[in-house]
Amino acid sequence: MKIAINQVPAEGLYIEEEIKSAQLDLDTDLIKFGPVLEVRGKVTRITNALTVELNIKGSLGADCSRCLSRYDWKLDKNVRFTYPLESSDNFIDLDPDIREEIILDYPIKPLCRPDCQGLCLKCGKNKNEGGCNCGST
Ligand SMILES: [Zn+2]
Ligand SMILES: [Zn+2]
Repeated sequence: MKIAINQVPAEGLYIEEEIKSAQLDLDTDLIKFGPVLEVRGKVTRITNALTVELNIKGSLGADCSRCLSRYDWKLDKNVRFTYPLESSDNFIDLDPDIREEIILDYPIKPLCRPDCQGLCLKCGKNKNEGGCNCGST
C-alpha cells in the first residue's frame, strides 16, 4: 500500500483499501491470516512529515498451543505512523510498518481461550470437551 506524497491535499487524504495478506507475508507456523486485510484511515501532511492513522482489520486462524485445536480471532487495531519527508521521496510504502504492527500482536503461545484446559497427558482427550477417566484432573 503506497501513498503518493504529492497527492495528499492540505485537508488530508482518506484511504480505504483491501490488502492481500499474502502480499505482507503474514503467515507463521502457528498462525494463518485470512485472505485480505481491510485498512482504512487518514493521511495528514504537515510541513516535513506525513502522519498516517489507520484502522486495520483482518481475521486469523491459529492452532491452540495447549489443546491443538484451530480457532479464529479478529484483528482490529488502530495504528499511527509518522514519516519524515525527504525532498526526494515521491511515495511512502506502508506495507512494512503495517506488517510489523500485525506481527507484534501475534501471541507466542496461542490459546483458544485463556483458561484452555489442554489435552489429557494420558489419553490425549481434549479436556475442554469434558473430563476423561484418567483421574488426572
Ligand atoms: Zn485450547
Ligand atoms: Zn485422560
